[in-house]
Amino acid sequence: MNIAIIGAGISGLSAAYRLRQLVPDATIRVFDRMNRCGGVLETLNRDGFQIEQSADNFITTIPYGVTLCKELGLGEQLVQTNPSVRRTYVVRRGRLHLLPDGFLMMAPTKLLPIVVTPILSPLGKLRAGLELFIPARKDNLDESMAHFVRRRFGHEVFERLVEPLVSGVYAADMEKLSVLATLPRFREMERNDGSLIRAMQKQLAANRAANLAEQSGARYSMFVTLRNGLASLCNALAAKLPPDSLQTGREVTKTWKTAEGQWIIETKPCGSQPTPDLPTISVIFAVQPKHFDAVIFATPIHESARLLKDSVPKLADKLAEIQHEGTAIATFAFNAEQIKPFFHGMGFVVPKTEQSPILAGSFSSLKYEHRAPKGKFLIRIFAGGNRSPELAELSDDRLRPLLLTEMRKILKIDGEPLFTEISHWSRTMPQYHVGHCELVREIESLTSSDPTLALAGNAFHGVGIPNCIQSGFQAAEKLAASFTK
Ligand SMILES: Cc1cc2nc3c(=O)[nH]c(=O)nc-3n(C[C@H](O)[C@H](O)[C@H](O)COP(=O)(O)OP(=O)(O)OC[C@H]3O[C@@H](n4cnc5c(N)ncnc54)[C@H](O)[C@@H]3O)c2cc1C
Repeated sequence: MNIAIIGAGISGLSAAYRLRQLVPDATIRVFDRMNRCGGVLETLNRDGFQIEQSADNFITTIPYGVTLCKELGLGEQLVQTNPSVRRTYVVRRGRLHLLPDGFLMMAPTKLLPIVVTPILSPLGKLRAGLELFIPARKDNLDESMAHFVRRRFGHEVFERLVEPLVSGVYAADMEKLSVLATLPRFREMERNDGSLIRAMQKQLAANRAANLAEQSGARYSMFVTLRNGLASLCNALAAKLPPDSLQTGREVTKTWKTAEGQWIIETKPCGSQPTPDLPTISVIFAVQPKHFDAVIFATPIHESARLLKDSVPKLADKLAEIQHEGTAIATFAFNAEQIKPFFHGMGFVVPKTEQSPILAGSFSSLKYEHRAPKGKFLIRIFAGGNRSPELAELSDDRLRPLLLTEMRKILKIDGEPLFTEISHWSRTMPQYHVGHCELVREIESLTSSDPTLALAGNAFHGVGIPNCIQSGFQAAEKLAASFTK
């Protein structure tokens, strides 16, 4: 049995790893156009600093990330966020303010911090408090995140707190982002408890009781990372595959299905970027095996759409409906004495109304202390997304001074950075627009009838690393089930 996986990001690698467990005799080929595996996950080490070029940690409440790390022997490498700075700042009129204590993504768990915060006006606070009395929506229809938050808490909470927090994560337009596809548990809370504030308080009390009841104490913080960087997770997965499996530096240019139901995959050698001038070499001559019994598409979904256009056009059209945004990350290294104020948070988010080129910033070496040598400080700045898509593509020469000047204004930092690293991630963030769940259902019904085809990646049920691992596992399980029938 020959199985091809296109894309050696965390989704494709997880699929390959799971396939090896389920169908040990299968020949697996994982193709990636880059000269390394990991996709957007890339860790740089420079002058004693550890720089994550995209994702820098993952959530522990979806268990796939932590479980896989432990399975791969990386359990000891898991690092929790620094407990003394587990807060976030929000920028208001150019200045940093701590988010009200207990405010979690969308709703407050405590009322007093909302009453005293300088971020909201007295009227805004009053409107937020009325959430307790706003009747719950009982239907299952989707709505935008903006509509949902304004409906429950009013415009100020949306504009000054939720919009910056959520757009920092999804790089999305809140007027289009689907609440059911991104944060469905908040709609469940509304339906079950009539109020998000009540539901959050109830949940907090339940969590406290569970913590007290738990004797072991071995709980993780909400986010964790790996001491040697997130690329080490991808490397550990790759190390579990037989030597020939990983075909990096090889771009898949075309796929089609023969009348006998086998897949043919055309590839060409490729550097870290696609090089259109190189000749296309058919896999028939370049890579063994010639034909594949099944394929997992684990590329960004617009690329999967392109590759499936000839063989399954109806599916390709549906995949192409999912739009993507790009982001850029600039990481600045400083001497600690250049950073004047002591920060009590892990980073900051910037509301759209501030009209800043910065989406969010992370005090990388405060959040995880191992990321900078003693006496040094590392800051990551995010730009681009739906708010300013042009910044994701802007040249480093122009992006660096733009972000540095703006960051200095907000953080009051003196002097030049020791160095800067910039990464661009073009069209990597799928946008879960209103109606996304319905679109994914249609896509899944189109793929379910073909036992030789599976899709994995961040475009369907969550963009986070644990979601991608789960999607890779599920793709592998689908193919394994059809082969072992
Ligand atoms: C800037 C940024 C910050 C993020 N921060 C976080 C975070 O803090 N926590 C978190 O949990 N998640 C975060 N995410 C999301 C998460 O990192 C991604 O959703 C996830 O890593 C995507 O993995 P993937 O394997 O699905 O896709 P990718 O990593 O994009 O991998 C797809 C692979 O397919 C290859 N490919 C594409 N076309 C072809 C072709 N034709 N032939 C061969 N190969 C091809 C690409 O080279 C790539 O290696 C972030 C994402 C970004 C971009």
